[in-house]
Amino acid sequence: MNTLEQIAENIKRIKAELGGRARLLAATKTVPADIINFALDCGIDLIGENRVNELLEKYEHIDRSRTEIHFIGALQTNKVKYIIDKVDMIHSVDRVSLVDEIERQAAKRNIIMPVLAEINIGKEETKSGILPEQAEEFCAYISEKPHIKLCGLMAIPPKSENFGDNRKYFCEMAKIFIDISSKNVDNSNMDVLSLGMSDDYADAADCGSTLVRVGSAIFGKREYPIKNQE
Ligand SMILES: *Cc1c(COP(=O)(O)O)cnc(C)c1O
Repeated sequence: MNTLEQIAENIKRIKAELGGRARLLAATKTVPADIINFALDCGIDLIGENRVNELLEKYEHIDRSRTEIHFIGALQTNKVKYIIDKVDMIHSVDRVSLVDEIERQAAKRNIIMPVLAEINIGKEETKSGILPEQAEEFCAYISEKPHIKLCGLMAIPPKSENFGDNRKYFCEMAKIFIDISSKNVDNSNMDVLSLGMSDDYADAADCGSTLVRVGSAIFGKREYPIKNQE
């Protein structure tokens, strides 16, 4: 974990590099609430959490008047009910059963949940997400749901060997994003393309990402208290 001084410096530098092209989401898994609140002092106004239990533990301690909270991790269907009224957007909507459960829980509370469709842009067997060729159909399915608002797309490309490797995936995502948002007349609100992490946020922004999710480049190497899992 970085020092507060380093964290402040990193946020300033990354924001300057992005230059307003993409919004900066601070990926705060394993980061304690007091450090998150410090990041808010430094100009962060959007954080992303990965795990339901961790989010619930930190939730009361995060200064929520100053930040939006997005859910960016793999989401089990039976845990939707715990976060539905606590997050401003869910990035990781990757299957029909999850769409159905979000609709059910949002309807119960009479809210409209903003979501992104997660695309498996590298077509990796081990990764969740909708295959690129099924993206349009999946987005159409989401947009029929009265208590869900489809706001855009998200992807995590394959682990890259070299800097710049992911640009081709980012460009493919940008193309799918433009295709779907132009066709989907009912959903004029497709304006979020969530792409890019610590190693490649600048490439993602070059390729049209509107939101980058950055963790370790802000906070330093993650320290996992219990076991090593993302
Ligand atoms: C952890 C995480 C990030 C940030 O990863 P870094 O490499 O630390 O920037 C971004 N997106 C998702 C979905 C994550 O789980």
